[in-house]
Amino acid sequence: MEKIDIRSYDLAELESFLTSLSQPKFRTKQIFKWLHSGIEDFDQMTNIPKSLRDILKEKCYLANCKIVKKFVSQIDATVKYVYQLFDGEYIESVLMKYEHGYTVCISTQVGCRMGCSFCASGLWGLCRNLTPSEMLAQIMKAQTDNNIRVSNVVMMGMGEPLDNFDNSVKFLKLVSDDEGLNIGLRHISLSTSGVVSGIKKLAKYNFPITLSISLHAPFDDIRSDMMKVNKRWNIEELLNACREYQAVTTRRISFEYALISGVNDSNECADKLAKILKGIMCHVNLIPANPVKENSFEKPNLAKIHAFKERLIYNGINATVRRTLGADIDASCGQLRRKAKEVMLNDNTQ
Ligand code: SAH
Ligand code: SF4
Repeated sequence: MEKIDIRSYDLAELESFLTSLSQPKFRTKQIFKWLHSGIEDFDQMTNIPKSLRDILKEKCYLANCKIVKKFVSQIDATVKYVYQLFDGEYIESVLMKYEHGYTVCISTQVGCRMGCSFCASGLWGLCRNLTPSEMLAQIMKAQTDNNIRVSNVVMMGMGEPLDNFDNSVKFLKLVSDDEGLNIGLRHISLSTSGVVSGIKKLAKYNFPITLSISLHAPFDDIRSDMMKVNKRWNIEELLNACREYQAVTTRRISFEYALISGVNDSNECADKLAKILKGIMCHVNLIPANPVKENSFEKPNLAKIHAFKERLIYNGINATVRRTLGADIDASCGQLRRKAKEVMLNDNTQ
């Protein structure tokens, strides 16, 4: 018998499951709270009778993240976790400290099928989707390991959240539940490489999250070379979906732009970018490309990065350069990878 992923249940699902076990209604909230408290064993549910804990153990499993490696940046105290899942697969998450609190960058898939040329996460394709409970567990583990409360979440680790649509949406509902982790949707960002069908579906939920679009180039030929997804949905289709999304949600959209020397950092690119974003309430996040050893992309020099930003601002577009965190531990955008095991074996930082 396949065990139930009880941590992925919402309150209504949990209630009907517990009712099927002839349990009283008040158990639902009690157990839901435990499931979102960071416990890793049913026996930690101290106010639940042993007989019920035994039934839960027999029928269900807890999707925990086991820390197999923890890298702490010597530069900025960013922490990168390599977690092992119940089936032996590895994922990575990053904990960052800002003035306003702690942010966790979570993975949404083991690997990624989108295959963007500059990113380490897609190097070995997609292995499997993460469950909502495995997304939650990444946050809970970071909280308990550091004895902190996480206030912000970015779905910007390994994987394409909109290629794992249902689980990502379920995660958003669970993580913001006030009986659970209670992290407000306004404190959550979801980043997509531009899965237009997913953006349209997501608009229907009208979540007050921040949608981040990994745009990276304003011309279709350059973008298609960098991102296969652009061959499926081009820039015009993507920006139309963004406009539709904004019309429904009224939320500002964030555009990610990884600056790669000689690829997408020209004045022409900056001017065209400003032109195509006109009319969309947005912010551009410039990310100097982070090194990935399997490719030869390099970030532009500081003067060029600054000039690109200034050109956007001059053209009326809000833009900032994202601070690189965890540079010494490969914890930055696009550096999280599925073959964490290989990285661990080659590593001597801890
Ligand atoms: N799959 C989603 C979310 C994860 S990637 C997406 O692509 O949006 C998180 C961000 O890191 C994306 O904006 C991605 O394009 C960017 N990124 C990937 N590789 C990078 C690299 N080598 N340098 C800088 N940013 C990178
Ligand atoms: Fe996947 Fe995002 Fe990396 Fe592209 S940038 S391969 S979509 S994780």
